[in-house]
Amino acid sequence: MSEPKKPAFKKIAAAGVMKKLMADYFYELDAAAKSDTEKVAWCTSVGPAELLRACGFKVHFPENHGAMLGATRMATDMIPEANAVGYSPDICSYLTADVGSYLKGETPLSKAYPGIESLPRPDVLVYNTNQCRDVQDWFMWYSRELDVPCIGVHTHRGVGDLTEAHFESQARQFEALVEPLEQISGRKLDPEALKSCMALSRRCSDLWKEVLDTGAAVPSPLTFFDGTIHMGPAVVLRGDPRANEYYETLLAELKQRIADGVGAVEGERHRLYWEGMPVWGKLRDHSTQFSSLETCVVASTYCNSWIFTDLDPDDPYRSMARAYTKLFIVRSDSAKEEYISRMVDFFKIDGILFHDAKTCPANSNNRYGMPERLEERLGIPFVTINGDLNDLRLYSDEQARTAIEAFVEQLDERTG
Ligand code: SF4
Repeated sequence: MSEPKKPAFKKIAAAGVMKKLMADYFYELDAAAKSDTEKVAWCTSVGPAELLRACGFKVHFPENHGAMLGATRMATDMIPEANAVGYSPDICSYLTADVGSYLKGETPLSKAYPGIESLPRPDVLVYNTNQCRDVQDWFMWYSRELDVPCIGVHTHRGVGDLTEAHFESQARQFEALVEPLEQISGRKLDPEALKSCMALSRRCSDLWKEVLDTGAAVPSPLTFFDGTIHMGPAVVLRGDPRANEYYETLLAELKQRIADGVGAVEGERHRLYWEGMPVWGKLRDHSTQFSSLETCVVASTYCNSWIFTDLDPDDPYRSMARAYTKLFIVRSDSAKEEYISRMVDFFKIDGILFHDAKTCPANSNNRYGMPERLEERLGIPFVTINGDLNDLRLYSDEQARTAIEAFVEQLDERTG
């Protein structure tokens, strides 16, 4: 194995534009929460954001706040606050970090954005259980605490073949949200506004897919770690034209890198797929370690999860049903394995890293033999690292570093 090199990763110039866009978003949310005329909805990250925007709500995404708590390493201090009111350390650490942050009265938003003192108070909480049950429990906690209505959609889970029956039941549930949302917002849903929001969201999704697909170039112009940062607008601003403008800018920069033969990791020798949640508090450490090993994590299920190519402005409810039910996390293991196999082929992957996130079983796909089945099917090795998305007490620097080093050594031996 060659000696680890000094890490050399290229910064994305568009990051400054994104920072400003995210700041605008958070200040607008804060202003809406403080105004007497605007309404705020909280929505799960793969919930019906388009419907909420079309109903005139400003939309806050608690998982985004959870990830901020993780990335700023505040989460570990917040989680015990939620544990103390009965929310187990074994359940979603986004939930426990976010609820703990509320109970402690501390948020990374006030550190990053002077003038913002707290999360924007919601007028309604809207969930979709497509990802897990925890989101419903999470939103219900706030519903009781703040005396705010909580409504949602219940999605089938572990779905193999998708059928019209799945989509039909979902579409009816999305439509059933309209009446309570109209009552809370105090205005009728304008079908044209919904159509326009769906069109913008679909365009955002298409652009985000194009951004991620640039990772198929050799060398890859971006890493998974870049993706986790630059996905911000696709998560919190889909349906808003500014997200689309941002991805046009980012895409142009990545295409230029490809044209110039510039890789995100200098001297890229190996290409990995990241399966599972990021370890938010260790993004920089991971990015640095992989760069020093001349290994690029080029793609992930996680970043791909905000691609909704089924959204169709002419068929809003049914297409939302399709888009939000086809998600990887909703599917059976065999459907997930098909998907990962296609990604491995498309992104020219040499190995797969599974992150077993202790508090997120829904995104830890290593627990029922999938890595072994994929290794046999695809003929490429895997490594599993144990950790968590937010709770750094469940993560060992030493163990992860050693496992990653040994894995790259294994890849070196395979390539000679
Ligand atoms: S999918 Fe995992 S990280 Fe996301 S809300 Fe559910 S338990 Fe938490």
